[in-house]
Amino acid sequence: AEHYLGRIEAHRGLNAFLDVRPEATLEEARAADERIAKGEAGPLTGIPIAHKDIFVTRKWASTAASKMLEGYMSPFDATVVKKLADAGMVCLGKLNCDEFAMGSGNENSAFGKVYNPWDANAVPGGSSGGSSAAIAAGLAPIATGTDTGGSIREPAAFTGVTGIKPTYGRPSRLGMIAFASSLDTAGLLGHTAEDCAMVLGSMVGFDPYDSTSVEKPTEDFTRDLNAGVKGLRIGVPRAWMGEGLDPEVAASIENVIDFYRREGAEIVDIKLEKAELGVPVYYVVACAEASSNLSRFDGVRYGHRAAQYEDIVDMMKRSRNEGFGPEPKRRIMIGTYVLSHGYYDAYYLKAQRVRRLIAEEFHQTFRSVDAILCPITTGTAYDFGANADPVSAYLSDLYTVPGSLAGLPGLSMPCGIHSNGRPIGVQLLGEHFTEARLLGMCAHWQ
Ligand code: GLN
Repeated sequence: AEHYLGRIEAHRGLNAFLDVRPEATLEEARAADERIAKGEAGPLTGIPIAHKDIFVTRKWASTAASKMLEGYMSPFDATVVKKLADAGMVCLGKLNCDEFAMGSGNENSAFGKVYNPWDANAVPGGSSGGSSAAIAAGLAPIATGTDTGGSIREPAAFTGVTGIKPTYGRPSRLGMIAFASSLDTAGLLGHTAEDCAMVLGSMVGFDPYDSTSVEKPTEDFTRDLNAGVKGLRIGVPRAWMGEGLDPEVAASIENVIDFYRREGAEIVDIKLEKAELGVPVYYVVACAEASSNLSRFDGVRYGHRAAQYEDIVDMMKRSRNEGFGPEPKRRIMIGTYVLSHGYYDAYYLKAQRVRRLIAEEFHQTFRSVDAILCPITTGTAYDFGANADPVSAYLSDLYTVPGSLAGLPGLSMPCGIHSNGRPIGVQLLGEHFTEARLLGMCAHWQ
């Protein structure tokens, strides 16, 4: 813990952390030492972890990188945080991210951008950009992230680290500040599949306080780490590998495909045509849910309240106007629009129907393949400001949102370095509850 606290201090310029309290961390570390001395240690006792500032914590402020929650102290720990603490892990502090996890470059944080440790001109990805930068810079051995439409997989790819988004419903959402509840999924970013697999088992599991938690016990996610890929059928959506994809990214991905083929996997060409409708469907569903979830920030119960106002309605208007940044405001407006009378059927209901078709297409595909291998983004980490137009930012999520809409587990693994000096990642997607297999495939490559 002291080692990592020292590195966090030395690399404050990355702006990866939003709240660091060395005393609180060292107290947890001392408690872990005592358990080790008494012979009561588990496999994770004393191992440091940092949490994305979407998870609420009692001992560190919980802000979702929004002015709306600046300095907010939660009365309880998110289930994910609590489970990992119960397993003996030591919290290093809270990680920067896009405001309410809305974004792809961590440029939407109210508390400043995060720098990519590989290149100071490049975004670290988002929304879990503090998590990805912290792993890449060695400020934490492992970190939590959240993935609603790619926010673990894309930042992992942009910083050359491994990221896993488990099946929707496997990790608890209790205490995860809500963005789009039918998509929000907690997960991990780390150096290797092995690191992620060792921690994931202690993070997931049924939570009676989360209405969409799946009643499936946790499992040993390390079980396939040495299984290899012999006999696995890996589907590649060929149409996703051509137009629009950076040729060097494509070449790195082809290299992984060749490796798996040589190692005994069968590579199968697949079509994912419904999934190509993912971006419009995702932005209707996610904004609709966000507009509903963010209505709780009204200046009354918690969060920012305007200093001056005329009456209660004016208080709410001013508080929300001052507290939310531009991206949450944009999404509240889109979401309110698609849910409003007269537009609900045309947008929201239509999107829900296409969402179902996308999920069915994946389930159908998984009858003939064990996993899908595909790109994460069309290129490497982009320069700050290069993706500022919201529509082009939304379109850049084309490879990550389909899996989210279907609730699939997804993994991001590093597979090369571009001639621009920035890392390249590749995505593995699986049927529900096949995290162990995805981790095994990644471990075999690593
Ligand atoms: N980039 C996507 C968005 O802005 C995904 C975000 C996420 O997964 N939290 O909504």
